[in-house]
Amino acid sequence: MSAQAASKVEKPTVKDHANFIDGKMRPAADGRTIDVVCPSDGQVFATIARSGQADVDAAVRAARVAFDTGAWPRTSATDRGRVLARMSELILSERESLARLEAKDVGKIYRSTFSDVTVLARYFEFYAGAADKIGGDVIPLPTGFTAFTIREPLGVVAGILPWNSPTQMFGRVVSPALAMGNTVVLKPAEDACLTVLRLAELAMEAGLPDGALNVVTGYGHEAGAALSAHPAIDFISFTGSPEVGTLVQQAAAANHVGVTLELGGKSPHILFDDADFAAALPIITNSIIVNSGQTCVAGSRLLVQASAIDRVSELFGAHFQSLSTGPHDVECDLGPLINAKQHKRVNSMLSTAIGEGVPVIAEGRIADGSSPAGYFVRPMLLGPVPRQNTIARKEVFGPVLSLLPFTDESDAIALANDTPFGLAAAVWSRDVGRAMRASRQVRAGQVYINGYGAGGGVELPFGGFKKSGHGREKGMEALHEFSATKTVILNHG
Ligand code: NAP
Ligand code: MG
Repeated sequence: MSAQAASKVEKPTVKDHANFIDGKMRPAADGRTIDVVCPSDGQVFATIARSGQADVDAAVRAARVAFDTGAWPRTSATDRGRVLARMSELILSERESLARLEAKDVGKIYRSTFSDVTVLARYFEFYAGAADKIGGDVIPLPTGFTAFTIREPLGVVAGILPWNSPTQMFGRVVSPALAMGNTVVLKPAEDACLTVLRLAELAMEAGLPDGALNVVTGYGHEAGAALSAHPAIDFISFTGSPEVGTLVQQAAAANHVGVTLELGGKSPHILFDDADFAAALPIITNSIIVNSGQTCVAGSRLLVQASAIDRVSELFGAHFQSLSTGPHDVECDLGPLINAKQHKRVNSMLSTAIGEGVPVIAEGRIADGSSPAGYFVRPMLLGPVPRQNTIARKEVFGPVLSLLPFTDESDAIALANDTPFGLAAAVWSRDVGRAMRASRQVRAGQVYINGYGAGGGVELPFGGFKKSGHGREKGMEALHEFSATKTVILNHG
């Protein structure tokens, strides 16, 4: 059998995807592609375009024309909101198929992607309603002048997305950017493009004009670098790792455009000894196993008051032992990691920590029948973890919870803040005064008291302190990030 015939036999159902530029699907200019692998079994089931400079140029040109002369920025805010509302309805009408596609593409369990797609629809619903609620100020001046402010779109927004929640990330960047009248070029992570491409098609069906939303797929160092350095963009929204965040911010600086950076975290749960442990258990566990720990807000450090260590270890240990990881389409608690690289990285961090003497309190199991080629990692509860151990300090991006003891309130705050990151945190206590004091002293962009998460959090401003990044997305604040104030001064005598 020829090599070509053999590859046809091996990949009978592989579906080819192209870029989405100016309202049309277009393969990469030089025809190159990247294989798409299902993390549950390591099998190739699709291809995407491997874009280069020419493809990024075409996408930015389409967005530039759509902004400079097209209908979208000139559409009233109310009508823009109507298009976003239609998009929300279309997403809900395709909720099951989008959730299935996302589960297969990134390995998340279906229950979780179904919830992500529901949140995505809520993003479009929220910004549909918000689009025409952004007003300006009238500024007092000496007699004879009237000054007022209006919010203007920035222009062409480049969105560089990570692989861990492509549908939610699409909602977070695209819906507020479009609500303000910007046009958009997205570069999703090469491991997570399929739902993003389908959503771009749906946006056209909802009534978005050609060129207002474009998607170029490919590698970060090729398509991502070309997009972030492109002279015809006006703003970059980046979510991903601190290392790539540095490169993107350098590109933005050279180009004199603004940038929001949403980077990683090492978010703490501070569990005081008077907390309701039974109520905290499922919420804390979920915060580290959802998407197998591959979320920027993973609650990866469990800080426990020393007097409660034994009770908490026993309770959480029993729960962790009951958890199972398995393929995205099987009823399990969590799915595989995204790819072979992450699988190797998380396993290596775990074996180093265990080799250094960090105790394993409990671990879950891999479901029977899971493919040996899938990227599965058992959920792990480690502790007590020495404060300086790497596993307690570095972002793992896997289902690994580190338990660290603290003595009293001030020790808890010092420990919670002893990290370069500051994305999210939770305080667990029945003492409202103590919980409030702690919430004010923890340096993090979002602090929950007796909880973690609030639905999708679409309404809540979100972003990092310290090395977790800068800028705010979500809520009404996102509309400010994706727009600029124009001041008009009328000299009427
Ligand atoms: P990543 O490697 O930084 O990639 C993020 C995006 O940047 C991807 O689209 C990637 O493309 C692209 N990229 C890579 N190199 C680039 C370059 N030189 N120039 C421009 N773009 C480039 O991060 P990831 O692996 O996707 O995600 C994991 C990290 O993101 C974790 O640290 C996590 O905490 C963080 N994260 C943060 C948040 C948040 O909201 N704060 C949310 C999710 C994830 P390719 O992947 O195609 O190469
Ligand atoms: Mg994949």
